[in-house]
Amino acid sequence: MAMPAGPTTDKPLSKLKEEICDIGRRIYNKGFAAGNDGNISFRLGPNEVLCTPTQICKGFMKPSDLCIVDMEGNQLAGHRKRSSEVLLHLTIMKERPDVKSVVHCHPPHATAFAVAREPIPQCVLPEVEVFLGDVPITRYETPGGQKFADTVKPFVQKSSVVILANHGTVSFGESVEKAYWWTEILDAYCRILMMAKDLGRVTYLTKNETQELLDLKKQWGFKDPRLTEELADCDICANDVFRESWGQTGVDRRAFEPPPEMAPSPAAALPAGVDKEALVAAVTQEVCRQLGIGA
Ligand SMILES: [Zn+2]
Repeated sequence: MAMPAGPTTDKPLSKLKEEICDIGRRIYNKGFAAGNDGNISFRLGPNEVLCTPTQICKGFMKPSDLCIVDMEGNQLAGHRKRSSEVLLHLTIMKERPDVKSVVHCHPPHATAFAVAREPIPQCVLPEVEVFLGDVPITRYETPGGQKFADTVKPFVQKSSVVILANHGTVSFGESVEKAYWWTEILDAYCRILMMAKDLGRVTYLTKNETQELLDLKKQWGFKDPRLTEELADCDICANDVFRESWGQTGVDRRAFEPPPEMAPSPAAALPAGVDKEALVAAVTQEVCRQLGIGA
């Protein structure tokens, strides 16, 4: 596994600790981390990760409260005990050498989707389509151990934010601020979706409108699995990127209508080689025969 060779940042440790405390205040003030919920980390070097301690409110942390662990989760520094959730952070950092920071919390609107196991509808808001794309939901595991941390592995290469079934979210990036960013965008989006649904309906962008957004996304240098060859022919609004995982994770579309493009057309549903005209004629003939009328 490729790991960064030297220090991952030029910023002094004191500045990084301040940044973590600052994001802690933001997740607490947004209502993303009730009580002592949530945890934040930053990779200092190949085998050193700065992280938040257990049993502390993220809204009131001081730089001196933070801990340092190695890549296996052993505590190297700090007078408070490291978070039990740090294995989740380390697993993501091991899978993604480009990731410097991980933010885990329980934002209520995104977590509601995690509890409902409802896939996040796509092709609704332009900015969300460009910045977020399809968002995966993991299978459920009891939090805290490596087994729980492993549930994110199938998804971390294709997304910067993952919804943890019946639990919360985890997002990651090249800085603490950027790691947090995805969580804030996702929760605001989930909130808008729920409010629109309360009003009565969600209007989806058309396939062409969404394709224009994907073109912009490519132009601006943002990655999206739908822009890769492997998914070039996918239905871009139909959660095709992570759909294969739904069987294992219990995710299914129950609350939100599928986007219009998803409705299977009768012609598309026919097996290859079947003549649609001939089939319609044969069915009509059989119906008429059973009704005793001439066709
Ligand atoms: Zn949690």
